[in-house]
Amino acid sequence: MEKLIVSEDEIVRVCSRLAKEIDSKLDETKNGVPVLVGIMNGALPFLYELVKHIKHPIEIDTIKASSYSGTETTGKVNITKEPDINLEGRDVILVEDIIDTGITMHYLKQFIKDHYKPKNLYVCVLVKRNNLNLKYSEIADFTGLTTDEQRYIVGFGFDYYGLWRNEPYVFVPSQKDIQ
Ligand code: 5GP
Repeated sequence: MEKLIVSEDEIVRVCSRLAKEIDSKLDETKNGVPVLVGIMNGALPFLYELVKHIKHPIEIDTIKASSYSGTETTGKVNITKEPDINLEGRDVILVEDIIDTGITMHYLKQFIKDHYKPKNLYVCVLVKRNNLNLKYSEIADFTGLTTDEQRYIVGFGFDYYGLWRNEPYVFVPSQKDIQ
C-alpha cells in the first residue's frame, strides 16, 4: 500500500455520523419508508455499513451504472441493472462510493428523477475528491469525507479492474501492485 485514505475505524465513525444526518433528514420529510439505493458494485460495502447505523425503518435496493472503462471516465452513464422496488413517490437516497468530477452522479440523478419519479432524491457519498475539474460540486447531500488525493484509490468497494474491493479500508495502492 502507498497511502491509507480511510481506516476501518474511520469508516465506522463516518457511517455512524452519516446515518445520524440521514435520520434527521427523514424526521423532516416524513414520507414513509425511504429506499437506500446502492450503486453497484463499488458502494455495496459502504451501503451495508451505513444501514447498520440508521434508526428509521428503511428498504434497500441497488442500481448498476457505469461511466468508467478501466480508470478513464467516458462521461456517459449506462444503466445495466435497474432497482427492483418501485421508487415513485418515495424518498430515495442514492449511495455511492466516490464523486470525482460529479459527471456520473449528475447524469444518474437526472435518469432516476425522469424514470422512477421519486418524491425526494438525495445522494450519500463516502468519498468526495477535491477535483479541480469538479463540474457539479453541489451534488452530494451527505458526504463522508473529502480528499485531496488525486491518485486512484482502492479497497472497501473501490476496485481497480474488478480487484481490491474486499479490502476493509480505502487506500492508494503502490505502483507495483497495479501493474
Ligand atoms: P465521476 O463521474 O464523479 O468523475 O466519477 C465517479 C465514478 O468514477 C465512481 O462511481 C467510481 O466508480 C469511479 N472512480 C473515480 N475515482 C475513482 C478512484 O479513485 N478509485 C476507484 N476505484 N473508482 C473511482
